[in-house]
Amino acid sequence: MLLQGNYERIVTKIAQSANLEKEEIERRIQAKRAKLSGLISSEGAAQIVAAELGISFDNEKLKIEELLPGMRKVNVVGKIISLFPVRCFTTKKGDEGKVCNFIIADDTSNIKVVLWDTNHISLIENGKIDKDKVVEIKNASMRDNELHLGSFSELNLSDEVFENIKSERIVREKKIKDFRISESVSTRAFIVQSFEPRFFHVCSECNKKVVSGEEGFICAEHGKVASEKKALINIVLDDGTENIRAVVFHENLKSLGISDLDNTERLIVQREELLGKEMIFTGNIRMNKFFNNPEFIIDNINEVDLDNLIKELEENSNAAQNSFGN
Ligand SMILES: [Zn+2]
Repeated sequence: MLLQGNYERIVTKIAQSANLEKEEIERRIQAKRAKLSGLISSEGAAQIVAAELGISFDNEKLKIEELLPGMRKVNVVGKIISLFPVRCFTTKKGDEGKVCNFIIADDTSNIKVVLWDTNHISLIENGKIDKDKVVEIKNASMRDNELHLGSFSELNLSDEVFENIKSERIVREKKIKDFRISESVSTRAFIVQSFEPRFFHVCSECNKKVVSGEEGFICAEHGKVASEKKALINIVLDDGTENIRAVVFHENLKSLGISDLDNTERLIVQREELLGKEMIFTGNIRMNKFFNNPEFIIDNINEVDLDNLIKELEENSNAAQNSFGN
């Protein structure tokens, strides 16, 4: 599902709380962005405008779609649609810690929740809170697009029932400069650099990476297995606002225009043809731990649809004319 204008609900909420027209809130948000030379996202500007109007969403129960990066004291209810295993880690000081993630959904959206407090994590460990349960979260904080619970937060079971759960991945159409870690995004950008393909082998049963041992390829789960050779290519994308390093895996290389992986000469030509090409890329933003930089893991590539583009340009120019008219 593609969420356009994902801050619309928050604009409506600010308008209601401030007793002003939505258009007025919108105008203030855009004026704030212009004043800050566009260095801030519309969502960020909306928060500043809300603060200036003396509106706080602290301790107010919000829908998941209304949660924005930077919000604190967040209250929300949602159904756990996936639960990940508890992980242990050691801090730099040598302390042992635990962390647990799950995804909650309501009728508007879904979001990743991160638990840091051992009391909350023990609720997961002893099975009191589990997948498919509805939970009420109080006093949590938004970090990027994740909801984090610390020792001052509350996590309880709730009797709230959701009829329709939005469990599909939420993809946001965004400019590269507005990309945030762990977000699913879609963007139109130019390929400005491409690197040599890298090859690796995966288990033919589970599709996970295998290591080569003395007797052939070994899968951590399936032992000695038949394997498949796969490739990936790193590219750099630029949309005029920022650039980002991206990874395109095997399955998507064809839609990128790379088909001759084993023919060095053809591959050089195909890689050259990529440069300057504009396409629509969809995927997830992850932190690349090696480079300590955000990285765009692409899982879908589409040609730029000219008809749609023209329609969009017309709408934008109409909007511009309207705002000049005011
Ligand atoms: Zn395997």
